[in-house]
Amino acid sequence: MTSPVWHPFTQHALMPPPPVISRAEGAWLWTDKGDKILDAISSWWVITHGHRHPAIMAAIKEQADHLDQVMFAGFTHQAAEDVAHALVKIAPKPLAHVFYSDSGSTAVEVALKMALGYWRNNGKPRRRIIALEHAYHGDTIGTMSAGARGVFNAAYEPLLFEAARIPFPESGREDETLKALEALAPDAAALLVEPLILGAGGMKIYPPEMLRQMKAICERHGALFIADEVMTGFGRTGTLFACQQAGITPDIMCIAKGLTGGALPLAATLCTAPIFDAHYSTDRAATFFHSSSFTANPLALAAARANLKIWASEDVAARITALGAMQEKALAPFLKDARFENVRRIGTITALELKVPDPGYLAGRGPELTAFLQARGVLLRPLGNTIYVMPPYCVTADELALIYGAIAAAADHFA
Ligand SMILES: *Cc1c(COP(=O)(O)O)cnc(C)c1O
Repeated sequence: MTSPVWHPFTQHALMPPPPVISRAEGAWLWTDKGDKILDAISSWWVITHGHRHPAIMAAIKEQADHLDQVMFAGFTHQAAEDVAHALVKIAPKPLAHVFYSDSGSTAVEVALKMALGYWRNNGKPRRRIIALEHAYHGDTIGTMSAGARGVFNAAYEPLLFEAARIPFPESGREDETLKALEALAPDAAALLVEPLILGAGGMKIYPPEMLRQMKAICERHGALFIADEVMTGFGRTGTLFACQQAGITPDIMCIAKGLTGGALPLAATLCTAPIFDAHYSTDRAATFFHSSSFTANPLALAAARANLKIWASEDVAARITALGAMQEKALAPFLKDARFENVRRIGTITALELKVPDPGYLAGRGPELTAFLQARGVLLRPLGNTIYVMPPYCVTADELALIYGAIAAAADHFA
């Protein structure tokens, strides 16, 4: 019997039925047949410390004994309060308010709505959103509008709003990015960026100095600066948040994936006082009109609270630094391997391009490459010919050796 399940980003006509995963622990997944798969991409970038971290699992169980769900308009609960306080404490200052939602896409939608609301409520109707070339901010209509256009959203083009686009700050061509931003910023509502690394757009890395300069231009022209830290947040780039490496504070910051350590869906959009204050009024029309049924779900917030406790009580920063060094070492042989190019790393993430005759995502090699790696017990999901490794922080040097061994084998087979 074929399954009625329709999987995300999956061409069912070309894919065999997926393995059934029945258990996870640390950096590993187990299928119902007992096969082990090394989770080299943290189950789509969400798992930070490792699967089923005991403290996070215990917190979810404990919360389940008391509170499953409560509507969040007109009510609050302790875990939501604790996490908001903790986030404000660890986030770049002066981010001061926390709006909860359920996914990275929603966190970005909320950010866009906050930005437009800010301008409208201040009586200055700036509307333009500026985004980076190759950006990815989610798969909802609004976030697709801000993201790069391509085969992934061609069918929905009629529904998308126009975003102003500035070039990716390619090394040696940074001036083009800054000039384009300088021209657009004076009447823009906001610039939306993935700080330091563009994820789904191909793991494209750019230096903190560029982030700093983009922020400075926005500040000079009053355009809001929205940092989409959905992927970069919670240590991926080597610091808790990527913005910290540039020493900047965004006006609005979106976080999601690693917020619960990856255990449950939860997102948050943080903002500075002026954004909140623009919506603070006895005029009900100035209200921030956004909600979803499961805003601040108590089980997810309990997981987030446990995650933040891990960050506060364990030396996660040292673990991340050590992982970065291990990644650097594992990557070294590939720098000399002519079958690869653009071998790069930021924090815990590495990426490299396998030189193939036809690098297009839909050229058929992508899924084939993924299947090849999975057959070797490693979960990697290359973006076209871009192979990247984004493991949970508990991964060991031996496990990394397995991952890079599979990548080398893929080069023997495909390149
Ligand atoms: C994954 C991602 C999103 C979307 O998050 P979802 O939880 O999948 O909706 C948004 N922005 C960035 C940078 C991401 O990597």
